[in-house]
Amino acid sequence: MAKSHRILLTGANGYIAQHILWQLLEEGYSVRAVARSESKIEPLRKTFGKWLGTPQLDFGVVPDIAIPGAFDAVLQSDPPFDIVIHTASPFKLNPEAGSFFLDPAIKGTTGILSDIARVAPSVRRVVITSSFAAIADFLGPPISNPAKVYTRDDWNPITLEAALATDNVMATYPASKKFAEKAAWDFVKEGKGNFELATVNPPGVYGPVLDPSQIAKPEDLNQSTVLIYDGLLKPGLKPSDPVPSTYINLYVDVRDCARAHVLAATLPEAAGKRWFTCAGELTYQGMANYLREALPEKRDVIPIGDPENTGMPEGWFQGSSPEIEEVLGLKFRPAEETIKDLGPQLVDIEKRAAAAASATA
Ligand code: NAP
Repeated sequence: MAKSHRILLTGANGYIAQHILWQLLEEGYSVRAVARSESKIEPLRKTFGKWLGTPQLDFGVVPDIAIPGAFDAVLQSDPPFDIVIHTASPFKLNPEAGSFFLDPAIKGTTGILSDIARVAPSVRRVVITSSFAAIADFLGPPISNPAKVYTRDDWNPITLEAALATDNVMATYPASKKFAEKAAWDFVKEGKGNFELATVNPPGVYGPVLDPSQIAKPEDLNQSTVLIYDGLLKPGLKPSDPVPSTYINLYVDVRDCARAHVLAATLPEAAGKRWFTCAGELTYQGMANYLREALPEKRDVIPIGDPENTGMPEGWFQGSSPEIEEVLGLKFRPAEETIKDLGPQLVDIEKRAAAAASATA
């Protein structure tokens, strides 16, 4: 692929996407950052201020990704796009009707691919942010003998009918990621687009937010980060409280997840593959231990739990993705760095929110 790229990035205001955007811009690529509204773009103008007004950065708004032709206007560019990275998709772990997740995830994915095929024939590579949720069976027993080791060859067996008939988020969100990803692979298999596809399938994504000054209060953190704050740092917690139980025991640092997107978008050998970015195991007990070390001022809040016991029960599923290092050349950060780089940000955000609340009281 050409050395200089013109890239369209969707969901650009998101937790993972802002790291992708930063890395792409640092590498000198030219990016159109797309979000749902001008108000979602506004904070990006400050965070990415050093590229404002340069040919490297411009913005686009797509209010509803599920509408056919939604991306037609933002896909028009001179120079034309050769890469699209599609991260936008609902990610919440609250109970919602299946359609809350499925419609934007699936229609958003098939929609952007159809729009690219129709109006942006210069696009050569599309990267979709899928998930470990598209790989693992979250409704089956997590423990087996021997333990199940998930790889990128696995697919979550959930059916669309089952996901539409429930508000169980362990069915609806994973189904949205599975069927969006499947739709993308089918689109390419059916020869409907003149581009190569790659997906990035992260497990739990943790680590620092790109620009904490954007986050006015802890509730504004993205889903995977707010769970850490709520379970381990929120005022009212105490050391004798239980450490939350871990279900998704596999992690990747957000900076490495972003790097995987950049590599999936730009390396010839990344095309046509799923990239399961599994850095290893990280439990809430492991996070609690790291946070207690990194944040001495919060030791009267962070639950202690059982610090010696950071593993999952015998037979709990695991993940394996040696190809990330072997093929993409990406070395994962250790979990300790991931959590210790996030902890102080959470404390600062909490302090700022408290100061703002007392100023308006
Ligand atoms: P995030 O900060 O909440 O970002 C999600 C992005 O998707 C935001 O730009 C959001 O826009 C957009 N979005 C959400 N619902 C949408 C809808 N209905 N229509 C259009 N855009 C919508 O979360 P994130 O963690 O960075 O997630 C980014 C991607 O990574 C998602 O595809 C998610 O499934 C995937 N992922 C995340 C994790 C994780 O642990 N964080 C793990 C695996 C996969 P608004 O700000 O306007 O809502």
